[in-house]
Amino acid sequence: MSTSTSQTVIPQTVIVGGGFTGLFTALYLSHQRYIGQVVLIDQSERFVFKPLLFELLSGQMEMDQVCPTYQELLQGSGTTFVQDTIQTIDLVKRRVELASGSHYRYTNLVLALGSITSYFGTPGAAEHSFAFRSGEEAIALRHQLRQLLQRASQTEDSETRRKLLTIAIIGAGPTGVELAATMADGLPDWYAMLGGNPHEIRIVLINRGPQILSGDANEGLRETALKALQQRKVPVELLTDAPVTALGPGRVEFTHAGQAATLDAEIIIWTAGTATHPLVKNLPIPDAHRDKHGRPFIVPTLHLMGYPDVFAGGDCVTQQKPEPALAQVAYQQAKAIAQNLVNLSAGEVPRVGHVLLRGTLMKLGAEAAAADIFNRYEITGKLGHTIRHLTYLEMLPTPAHDLKVTAEWLSEEVFHRAKRTIDP
Ligand SMILES: Cc1cc2nc3c(=O)[nH]c(=O)nc-3n(C[C@H](O)[C@H](O)[C@H](O)COP(=O)(O)OP(=O)(O)OC[C@H]3O[C@@H](n4cnc5c(N)ncnc54)[C@H](O)[C@@H]3O)c2cc1C
Repeated sequence: MSTSTSQTVIPQTVIVGGGFTGLFTALYLSHQRYIGQVVLIDQSERFVFKPLLFELLSGQMEMDQVCPTYQELLQGSGTTFVQDTIQTIDLVKRRVELASGSHYRYTNLVLALGSITSYFGTPGAAEHSFAFRSGEEAIALRHQLRQLLQRASQTEDSETRRKLLTIAIIGAGPTGVELAATMADGLPDWYAMLGGNPHEIRIVLINRGPQILSGDANEGLRETALKALQQRKVPVELLTDAPVTALGPGRVEFTHAGQAATLDAEIIIWTAGTATHPLVKNLPIPDAHRDKHGRPFIVPTLHLMGYPDVFAGGDCVTQQKPEPALAQVAYQQAKAIAQNLVNLSAGEVPRVGHVLLRGTLMKLGAEAAAADIFNRYEITGKLGHTIRHLTYLEMLPTPAHDLKVTAEWLSEEVFHRAKRTIDP
């Protein structure tokens, strides 16, 4: 639905998916005073700052800080936010259809749908495990963990208590490792407050292959992460070379050293894999223009091969020289996409978008993190924690939100820590 006057045609840019790519494209367009109309569509009413979901789980940050509403974030930006689920994308008719029955036509599309969880066809996995990708999932897990500790603290039978206090995390990629480290510091404190013995808590991290963080951008932090997992309030039990074959209610089935084995665990969290978004998989793009996971290739100017009107970035697409699936990649691609949309609207040609990886950051405990800076320097412990937090505060969208969270975080981090130091 382009609006036309006798002189100019105002482009309509539709952004599908409001994650790191989609939201930041809209915000950059607004900062650059883009002349087109911008519509951002997401199924949720809240943006998810995924790297800080661990803080939401631990209670170190709250929902409004980690997952602010699009309404708040886009206020005054000129972007129209539509909360709806995208059902079909027609690249030929240039049209996006939504679950509510409405549709949008576009001059330019920004494809920013991220990825979905993959269970690799493991029986019972979707039904019997928690996912950890949204604010609601982090809060649901927090409630469940608190309830479970409460129940355990009132359970006399030691076998039942043992099962209640065993938490299994499937997948030792970055999310699994950070989750294990966060819980291995947090849960003992919560349980001690209920009068329980924190040493009864077991956090078991189960990995298909022999190494944690295998093939991941955080691989360089492997040794640091392994050490950190052992140094938590309860050491994390690491089970490698243990492919999970099925999940049942409170039960993990896996193989280890050629033998079938089971682990009784009241809470199971699945962080083992991602897959290409189905809407992206269904686009009429030939296999030759996709990688082996079905992700379409984008060209250096960040549009889909063969579709110069469709820009794309983040986890839903890839490049001939792939970038890791990271927020910092999506965030930088968003800036380049917005710049190219502005160029196009000014009759200029799109430019190549460059991504500069600044290094990686991992949360490795309640107040511990590791920063691998440009693959050259590693900073760990509390200083790593401070660097990680300040980096993410810098990335938090819109100055208003940024300032609010910075102020809240600084008062917690600086003033309360100072108070703890001064208190007898
Ligand atoms: C727990 C966790 C921790 C992470 N930690 C880090 C980290 O420390 N550092 C780092 O760099 N990266 C981290 N990542 C990875 C990072 O979050 C992703 O790479 C980044 O979010 C990708 O951005 P995106 O825009 O491609 O997708 P997303 O941010 O996932 O956004 C996709 C959006 O599309 C929307 N959507 C999907 N389908 C539909 C539909 N049918 N209709 C409407 N809307 C839809 C979703 O609601 C979502 O808002 C982490 C990821 C997770 C899960």
